[in-house]
Amino acid sequence: MLITVISYRCILTLNYFLRTKTSNIDGIGVFTVQEISQDKELFKIIGKTTPHATKYTIQVDAGIHLTALDTIVHFNHSCVPNCFIDFKNMVLKPIRNITSGEELTFHYCTTELELESSFKCNCLASNCLGEIKGFKFLDRSYIDSLRPYLSPFLSDLL
Ligand SMILES: [Zn+2]
Repeated sequence: MLITVISYRCILTLNYFLRTKTSNIDGIGVFTVQEISQDKELFKIIGKTTPHATKYTIQVDAGIHLTALDTIVHFNHSCVPNCFIDFKNMVLKPIRNITSGEELTFHYCTTELELESSFKCNCLASNCLGEIKGFKFLDRSYIDSLRPYLSPFLSDLL
C-alpha cells in the first residue's frame, strides 16, 4: 500500500517522486517511484534545532540536533546506503544512480556520534554492522569508508 508523504512542503515542492510505505528494513521507509541520477538533490532538509537527540533527529554539532520537518524522519538506516546528507547545503543527495522502486537510505553513523537508542540493523548487507550505536563505536577502518559522507562535526573529530 502506498501512503502519500505527509509533509505539506514535500508534496508541493520536492517529493512527487517519493512515497512512504512498509519497509523490509524497519517500519515505514521512503521509496522512489522513478530513477534518480546521482547528481540530483533529493530535497532540502529543514527543521528546528534542539539540544536533545531523539530517534528522529539529525545531529549537526555537539549538543545540537535537528528536528527535521520533512520526509527525512522516515528514511531508514542502511550499512550500504544509497543516499547521504550534504551538510554544506543541507540536502539529501544520492551516492549513486538509484533505480525506480528502491528504498532510499542513509548511514546513521555519518551524522550521529551516539544514537539516542541503538538498534539491530536489518539492512541485509554483507558487511552489516549488526548493532547500530553511532559513530564513536566504529573502528577506524570502517570510519575511513564513511569519510566522504560524514557530517562536518564528525569529520572534525578525526
Ligand atoms: Zn546493516
